[in-house]
Amino acid sequence: MTQLNTKLVHGVPVTDNATGAVNPPIYNSSTYAFESVGSMPRWDYARSGNPTRDFLERQIAQLEHGVRGFAFASGLAAIHAVLSIFAPGERIVVGSNIYGGTYSLFNEHFNRWGLVSYPVDTQDLRELEHAIGGHGEQAPAKAVYFETLTNPLLQVNDVHAIAEIAHKYGAIVIVDNTFVTPYLQQPLDLGADIVIHSATKYLAGHSDVVAGLVAVANDILAARVYYSQNRLGGVLAPAECDAVRRGIQTLALRLERQQENALAVARHLDEHAAVARVHYPGLHGEAVASKGLRGAGGVLSFEVREGVNPADVLNNLQTFRLAVSLGAVESLAEYPARMTHFELPRSERLKVGVTDELIRLAVGIEDVRDLIEDLDQALAIATGHAQAPQSLELASLFR
Ligand SMILES: *Cc1c(COP(=O)(O)O)cnc(C)c1O
Repeated sequence: MTQLNTKLVHGVPVTDNATGAVNPPIYNSSTYAFESVGSMPRWDYARSGNPTRDFLERQIAQLEHGVRGFAFASGLAAIHAVLSIFAPGERIVVGSNIYGGTYSLFNEHFNRWGLVSYPVDTQDLRELEHAIGGHGEQAPAKAVYFETLTNPLLQVNDVHAIAEIAHKYGAIVIVDNTFVTPYLQQPLDLGADIVIHSATKYLAGHSDVVAGLVAVANDILAARVYYSQNRLGGVLAPAECDAVRRGIQTLALRLERQQENALAVARHLDEHAAVARVHYPGLHGEAVASKGLRGAGGVLSFEVREGVNPADVLNNLQTFRLAVSLGAVESLAEYPARMTHFELPRSERLKVGVTDELIRLAVGIEDVRDLIEDLDQALAIATGHAQAPQSLELASLFR
């Protein structure tokens, strides 16, 4: 079984039950019996491992071309476990444009703990190399941490180029592949050592479960991440493991439609009079392919023109729900400055391009004509070219 779509559906063969069930069972057991004192059972206690989680962990290892996978109770639990393999005093170079929760984990929790994070624009490979090398003054960094597609400006990071530089200095390459998924890129194939997912997003795909996944490239890293997983204990429960397993089966179909819709929405907004700028790498297909991506994904962002209040756009959307998160079947819209990126101080936020005019869309699998109509009517209200439906209703009440 070598092709990706087949792997998505089948995962690893289910062989541990006598019923012929085509799906792996949900084992709701926290403990497993020993045959006798001194026996070494495959499973003993569910935090350490259980067959339902094992299926999902082998599924993500297979899809990301890793030697071993790990499932966590959230994306941040996964990131926490991975960063815990380092020691106080060690230095990690971190992409300057990362998920707000990860930024806070680095800058509050891990800095207090003694792990030094050093922010760098990962688009600038010269600056990156100086930072990893320690500017000739410090020991080289132990790791580089970044996201394949930055959030919310969707800049494409070149995993292969970054990994080559990092490995020159012996630094481990850690990639958050949440926005991209193994369907569009397998970072381990491009030189990364650890891949992390908030499986809450595309992998689960239905806004009904919070989960994190990790895949690693070698057995040494596997042993270290397993220690963190088992001792910090942020593991994913069996029922949630099953929800993510099922989500992964339809990843290809969902993402194909989401990308098709995102590209149509991006092209439409790019021509819209109320829109100043659209950020979607799919508008520049060559940039995507040259950096090893098989597609641009389903998230895009745009800046409204001066004089257009982004809150008026967001508050008047009907089909797009006003919510954080992404990667699900339904379309979501959010205001990064006040929602996903509020953890960043205003100056930091503006430095990474999260302006007060920016709106992020996570495009779902609906009919794209409905999505475009929805954006058009909200933009019309925000630019004063139409009245909001609520105010119309109120107006008729008082007539
Ligand atoms: C959502 C997200 C996370 C955090 O994952 P949770 O499942 O919410 O804990 C980390 N990285 C990225 C890129 C995300 O979008």
